[in-house]
Amino acid sequence: MGFFADSLARVQPSATIAVSTKARELKAAGRDIISLSAGEPDFDTPDHIKEAAKRALDAGKTKYTDVDGIPELKQAIIAKFKRDNGLDYTPTQISVGTGGKQVLYNALLATLNPGDEVLIPSPCWVSYADIVLLGGGTPVFVPTKPEDGYRLKPEALAKAINKKTKWLLFNSPSNPTGAAYSYDDLKVLTDVLLRPENDHVWVLTDDMYEHLLYDGLEFATPAQVEPELYDRTLTMNGLSKAYCMTGWRMGYAGGPEPLIKAMRKLQSQSTSNPCSITQWAAVEALNGPHDFIADNNRLFVERRDFVVAALNKAPGLSCLMPQGAFYAYPSCDGAIGKTSKGGVKITNDEDFATALLEEEGVAVVHGAAFAGSPAFRLSYATSLDALKDACARITRFCEALT
Ligand code: PLP
Repeated sequence: MGFFADSLARVQPSATIAVSTKARELKAAGRDIISLSAGEPDFDTPDHIKEAAKRALDAGKTKYTDVDGIPELKQAIIAKFKRDNGLDYTPTQISVGTGGKQVLYNALLATLNPGDEVLIPSPCWVSYADIVLLGGGTPVFVPTKPEDGYRLKPEALAKAINKKTKWLLFNSPSNPTGAAYSYDDLKVLTDVLLRPENDHVWVLTDDMYEHLLYDGLEFATPAQVEPELYDRTLTMNGLSKAYCMTGWRMGYAGGPEPLIKAMRKLQSQSTSNPCSITQWAAVEALNGPHDFIADNNRLFVERRDFVVAALNKAPGLSCLMPQGAFYAYPSCDGAIGKTSKGGVKITNDEDFATALLEEEGVAVVHGAAFAGSPAFRLSYATSLDALKDACARITRFCEALT
């Protein structure tokens, strides 16, 4: 028996963090690198939110707080769920954690037993499967297709459910594909979950990119679309993306009280409360002005439109138009089997991403990390100038493949 826990051997370090670290190292070594690997907006946190944090600091809000959130923040979250999603919660149905990641982690670790399966429509965020594995459960990918806009179809969901299925882990708009589900797209899925034979399946919905939705699409979340699912849905959200607060670490969820209580128990024995200053900043973020989000989204759309058009001109790539988040997810199927200018045989998307970084200095994350190959994810949450340069390099790389 080794020193390290067996459960650790089953998981991978986060691929997106690994690529970003490699890009930073190359940059530090003097290489000209454009990193499109990180999952965070390039915009700074809005001033009114920073000011709220400064006020909290000056007012001495520097002590331990309630484990799963101060009452003022829970009230702001309750108001947000009502305002944006038409969902009613009480304070004992709200959990606040150190990032959406911790909230997901709490929910899965508090509920999974060996043999329990978690359905994950793929391509999916890198951490889902690993968190399920750490919790002792079994991740089951349910592949979605580019021709369906990377959206899960009801037949595929129905087929994937069995007696061992505990959760459907749902994410819209999606990291990495940017696919988003309309009310109608969701309704056909919730109808499957309402079938009597599926009444043991719970929904963990990751609404992290709720506000980053484009082209006039309206956001929808499962418990809102199907109120009958309210008692078996955990609605997770956070401030990292739309509020440009990745470093502050703030996530939250609303759901059935026994589940929230179990999550609180776990958190009380791990990190305790999320940062007190962050919590006060979050109260302001949720209750304060939101117009900066529309301003940011206009820039995201401009960048998205540029990137998708540019990628579709590169030989061997094809890219769907993402409807939300700030990622493009081009297929690189047409590059597989070719050889790069530097002599690298491209046998899969990891080879593609590695050679692209080595030869052209553009950091992207290979699709295998998201259980969706052959493709890669690039984040367009960076300046248009950097994106123009990056897309020119990607095109040059693809044109040189033989
Ligand atoms: N869910 C999705 C789909 C994400 O992309 C991320 C971050 O990349 C998270 C959850 C976690 O966000 P955080 O822990 O910063 O709140």
